[in-house]
Amino acid sequence: MSFLNSTLAGGLNPAEQLYQGTDFSSLNWVEKQWAAWYIWIGNPIIATGLMSFLLHEIVYFGRCIPWIIIDAVPYFRKWKLQPGKVPTPQEQWECTKQVLFSHFTIELPAIWLFHPLAETFGMSTWQVPFPSWKAMAPQIFFFFFFEDLFHFLAHQALHTGILYKHIHKLHHKYSAPFGLAAEYAHPAEVFILGTGTLLGPILYAAFGGDLHIVTVYVWIVLRLFQAIDAHSGYDFPWSLQHIIPFWSGADHHDFHHMAFTNNYSTSFRWWDWACGTDTKYREYKKKVKAAKAALKNATQDEKDAFERNLMAEVEKDGQRAEAEAEARGLLGGKAKVQ
Ligand SMILES: [Zn+2]
Ligand SMILES: [Zn+2]
Repeated sequence: MSFLNSTLAGGLNPAEQLYQGTDFSSLNWVEKQWAAWYIWIGNPIIATGLMSFLLHEIVYFGRCIPWIIIDAVPYFRKWKLQPGKVPTPQEQWECTKQVLFSHFTIELPAIWLFHPLAETFGMSTWQVPFPSWKAMAPQIFFFFFFEDLFHFLAHQALHTGILYKHIHKLHHKYSAPFGLAAEYAHPAEVFILGTGTLLGPILYAAFGGDLHIVTVYVWIVLRLFQAIDAHSGYDFPWSLQHIIPFWSGADHHDFHHMAFTNNYSTSFRWWDWACGTDTKYREYKKKVKAAKAALKNATQDEKDAFERNLMAEVEKDGQRAEAEAEARGLLGGKAKVQ
């Protein structure tokens, strides 16, 4: 960190001026790199904007890589929720292009505005040291809770009339999603649902909460993992929903894509359960469980055929529900579908 101290002696850029009087020897390695980044870039707005954008891109595509590999290895097929629907490389590439389009049109400017917005609401950005894990954990839980509720409500609105037809329909292109499809959406949807991710931290800071942007970064990384894993299409015996029963996971969201209705939340199952928007899902799970018990002595082929038929039935119902949603007015007027 000697260059940090030496730069303080010469001409100071705006970032260097911020760190005057900071005792760098008391910082840990990550905190030192954080300060070095702000000093190297020289402009806090660009430093925060660039770091936010790079973090999002690296984590998003980095987290998708294991799922692309898993899709290419037949051994993992036994844990695929809709085994007959493995994405082709062509589908994955088409999806990547749309995701990049959304990232560069909506997310890039939004991320760029995040530093001024964060500063306006009193969030710490360039400051070191970071808050402790004990301070961060309850804040991150609040962001999870807030986003889940926001998404539960906004997602249901996106399932009606023109909002569905012109915005959310794109995300429902894949009835069997895969990791890369997590942010496969219309730029307006990325903006609407992205609000749920960022509004929690903004409100928390606006109401006087002591919040550092590094906590927001940890939250965004966890949220990206949640979204990509929920779209992965795989339910492993070690998946989080088998450890935390109220965690949604891929099993919950895959059904949303297959059946079109039910399961509107992101991270937790409680709102769908409390509001009765998971009844079809729970019925389906019950049927699968009962059939598995009844078909105990059947061959694997017979069991697979039964599950395929059940899925086809659910998907057909979903297509009907989709046509109804498109025909329905914004305020939920009756649909006329033949
Ligand atoms: Zn949806
Ligand atoms: Zn989805």
